[in-house]
Amino acid sequence: MKQYPFDKIEPKWQKHWQDIKLFSCDVSKTKDKYYSLVMFPYPSGALHVGHGRNYILGDCVTRYKIMQGANVLSPIGWDAFGLPAENAAIKDKRHPKKSTEDNIKIMKKQLHRWGIGYDWDREVTSCYPDYYKWTQWIFLKLYEKGLAYKKKAAVNWCPSCQTVLANEQVVGGRCERCNTKVEEKDLEQWFFKITDYAQRLLDDISKLEHWPERVKIMQTNWIGKSTGVQIDFPVVDSDIVLTCYTTRVDTIFGATYMVLASSHPRIRDLIKDSPDKEKIYSFIKKVKAQNKEERASIEIEKEGIFTQRYVINPVNKRKIPLWLANYVLIEYGTGAVMAVPAHDQRDFEFAKKYDLPIEIVIQKPETSSQKPEKLEEAYEGDGVQVNSAQFDGLDNRTAMEKIADWMEDITIGRRAVHFKLRDWLISRQRYWGAPIPVIYCEKCGTVSVPEEDLPVLLPENIEFKPYGKSPLADCKEFINTKCPKCKGKAKREIDTMDTFVDSSWYYLRYLSACDDTKAFDSKLVNKWLPVDQYIGGVEHAILHLLYSRFIAKVLFDLGYVDFEEPFSRLFTQGMIIKDGAKMSKSKGNVVSPDELIKKYGVDTVRLYTLFIGPPERDAEWNDRAVEGSYRFLGRVWRLVGQVTSLRAKRSNPENRDCFVAGAPRNDEIKIPSLTRKIHQTIKKVTDDIEGGFKFNTAISAIMELVNDSYIALEKNQDPGVIKEAAKMVVLLLSPFTPHICEELWQNLGNAESIFRQKWPKFDKALIEEEQLTIPVQINGKLRSKVIVPADIDDDTVKEKVFQDKIVKKWIGDKKYKKVIIVPKRLVNIVI
Ligand SMILES: [Zn+2]
Ligand SMILES: [Zn+2]
Repeated sequence: MKQYPFDKIEPKWQKHWQDIKLFSCDVSKTKDKYYSLVMFPYPSGALHVGHGRNYILGDCVTRYKIMQGANVLSPIGWDAFGLPAENAAIKDKRHPKKSTEDNIKIMKKQLHRWGIGYDWDREVTSCYPDYYKWTQWIFLKLYEKGLAYKKKAAVNWCPSCQTVLANEQVVGGRCERCNTKVEEKDLEQWFFKITDYAQRLLDDISKLEHWPERVKIMQTNWIGKSTGVQIDFPVVDSDIVLTCYTTRVDTIFGATYMVLASSHPRIRDLIKDSPDKEKIYSFIKKVKAQNKEERASIEIEKEGIFTQRYVINPVNKRKIPLWLANYVLIEYGTGAVMAVPAHDQRDFEFAKKYDLPIEIVIQKPETSSQKPEKLEEAYEGDGVQVNSAQFDGLDNRTAMEKIADWMEDITIGRRAVHFKLRDWLISRQRYWGAPIPVIYCEKCGTVSVPEEDLPVLLPENIEFKPYGKSPLADCKEFINTKCPKCKGKAKREIDTMDTFVDSSWYYLRYLSACDDTKAFDSKLVNKWLPVDQYIGGVEHAILHLLYSRFIAKVLFDLGYVDFEEPFSRLFTQGMIIKDGAKMSKSKGNVVSPDELIKKYGVDTVRLYTLFIGPPERDAEWNDRAVEGSYRFLGRVWRLVGQVTSLRAKRSNPENRDCFVAGAPRNDEIKIPSLTRKIHQTIKKVTDDIEGGFKFNTAISAIMELVNDSYIALEKNQDPGVIKEAAKMVVLLLSPFTPHICEELWQNLGNAESIFRQKWPKFDKALIEEEQLTIPVQINGKLRSKVIVPADIDDDTVKEKVFQDKIVKKWIGDKKYKKVIIVPKRLVNIVI
C-alpha cells in the first residue's frame, strides 16, 4: 500500500522550485553570501546511489542555508575532459564529445530527479572552448611567470592506456583506470613548478581551521618537508662530485657504499669507460620496467649492480664503492644515497645480499659493543656515537648538529631543506583535453600563443587509435601553423593538459560563467571566495585540493585574487559500500537509484542516504532498510493529516494535561512536555547540522518528535501544541526531504514555499527539563537530596541516589537491605 502520493508530489515541487527560481543567485548582492560547492563532477554516465551522497549532502546544506536567510550560491558544472571518454571512443567509435554530452544529459536528469538544487545559469563544461580558452589563459600566466616549463623526465607510463600518469594515478603500481602494471619511460613533458610553492602550501595548512584533520595530514605528508644535510662525495679518478641528501648525518661515518637511482643524470658519464657498460644498461632497463611504488616499498627484493667506480666519504676519506640499485628512486633527495647498512634496514638487506661492509656508528642503549657481523637487522634508533672520530661518546641527536656544523666549517656539506613534493606534470599525450597553447618555431624556438589567439581549438575531426602519442600528431590542420613572432612556418604542441588543470580553477568561473572577456571577475571572486563550504570525496584529499590551492596562490601573486586559500571549509564524505566493497560496475554491486525512486519516491532515497550513518564515514547500503525511511515519511504524512483535521474539532479541556506555555492553570505554569520536545528538537537538529553535518542524528531527533506527537494525539493533548509539533517536523525535515515537506507545508495552510520560511529558532527557557528535588533518607533519617528530571523512572532515581557522594559516604561498604521509593517524593535506604 502506498504511504503517500510521492509520484504526484515530487515532479510538482521540482517544477515549482524552477518557477520561483529558488536556487538562482544574484551574485551582485554579497550580504550574507554563502558559497556552497560540491566537487566538479566527472560526467561518467548514470550515477548510482553511492554517488548520490555527495549531491544530497550539498543540497541539504544549500537548502538549510537558504532557510537561514543566506544568499546562497550553489553552482554546478562538468569536469568534462579526460581519458575514459577517449578510451570509450577508441572502443565504441563514439566521439568523446558525443559520449560526454550524452553522459551530462543523463546526470542532469538524475540530479533533477533527486531534487538537487543548482543555479543552472552558471553551468560550466570544461571541454567547451568558452571554458578551456581560460584554462589555456591560466597556462600562459604560469608560463609568463616561469612556472610552466618543459623537460625530459622519467614518467609513469601505462602501456594499455598509452599515456603518462601522475603519481597519484598509480595505485599499488598499477594504472588507476585500467589496472595495468605501470612502467617508467623518458619523455619531454610540460610541468608546473608547484615546488616553488611547497613551503607556502605547507605553512598555510595551519590556516585551514575547518578542514578535516586527516586531509591536512595527507597534504602535509605529500609535501613531505624534511631538514638534513647535503654532502659532497668526490668520485675517484674523476672530477664528478655526487651530492647526497641525508636526514641522518649522525650516521655518516658508517656510510660504507653509495647508491644511485637508475635514472641519475650522471650515470652515463660515470660508466662510459666501464667494461660492464652493457650489463649496467640492461640492469637500468630492467629497473625502469619495475614500478616505482613497489620499488619504494620496504618489502621489495633489493637488486643492484656495481658501477666499478668509487667515491670518497669526505668525513674519513675512505674509498667506498658506487652501486646502482632498484630501491633508490630519483625522487629521493638527489637520487644519490649514502648507504649506512648498520642503521638503515634497506641498506642492511642490500649489504647482506651483496656482501658489502657494515660498520656500527650508533651504539644501541643498554648494549655492549656489538659486532657488525652479528647484526640481524639495522638499528635505526637513537644512541651514542662510536667509530665517529671526534664525535665519539656524544648522543647522536647532539652529534647531528655538531657534525653538520663541522661539515659546513670545512665545506664538505651544508644544511638543507628537502621536500618530497615534485613539480606537477601536466602533459598528456592524449586528445581529449585542453591543448597546451605553445608553438614551436625553427627560428624563434618555443613561443607561447598570444592571448588574443586563444582558444587553441581542439579539432573535432579526429581518428582514435590507441598508440603512444596524441592523435593530434596526425592532424595536419592542427599541427601546422604560423609562428606568432616571425610569421614563419611553425608547429603546435600536441600534448594536452592534465584535467586537474581544468578543475584547479573552476570555482572562480562560476561567478561569471558566461563572461567571454575574461577567465573570472576579480571583483566578484574577491567578494565570494573563499568557498564557504566545499564538499567532496576524500579521494581528492591530495591532488585536486593541492593543485587548487597552488593555482589560487599563483593568481594571488599575480594580483588577480585577494585570497590565498580557495576553500575555507571542507567536508569529505565517506563512501557508500555494498556487500563490503566500494560500488563499481566491475564488481556488480552497483545500486541504481531509479528502481528505488520508482518504488518509494526520491525523498525516501534522500532520507535513507542521510540516515545511513555519519556522513564522513563509509556506510553499507541496505536495500531493505530503505523501506524503514519510507515508512517514516508515511508516518509524517499521516501525522500532518490528523493534525489538520484536529483543528476543526473542539478539544476536550478535561483531557489536556496542560495549556500552551504562558497560560496559567491551578496557579502553576507548566510547560507541556511536547513543547519542550519541540524546542529540544530544534536545538538538536540545528546543532547537528552546524557541528559537522550530523544529518543522521538530526533525523533521529525528528523521529522522536514524531513519536511524541503521536503519543500526544492519543492522549488527546492540546491540539495547538500538537499542531506546532507537526509544523516543526515539516520545517526541520525540509532540507532533507524537500518534496514531501513542501506538500505538507501547503496542507498546513501555508501558501509560500517552505524554503522561503526562516529556519526555526528554539527558546532556551523552554528547553530545560522540569527538575525535582528528592530527599534521600538513610534508615529514616534525612541525609541528602538529589536533583532529577521530573519524568525519571524509579530505576534511574535509584542509580542517581547511589551515585550521590553523601549517600556513598553514609553507606560506605555496608550492604543495604532495601530501597523504598515514593515516586517523585522520597527515597529511603534501609541498611
Ligand atoms: Zn591504464
Ligand atoms: Zn618564429
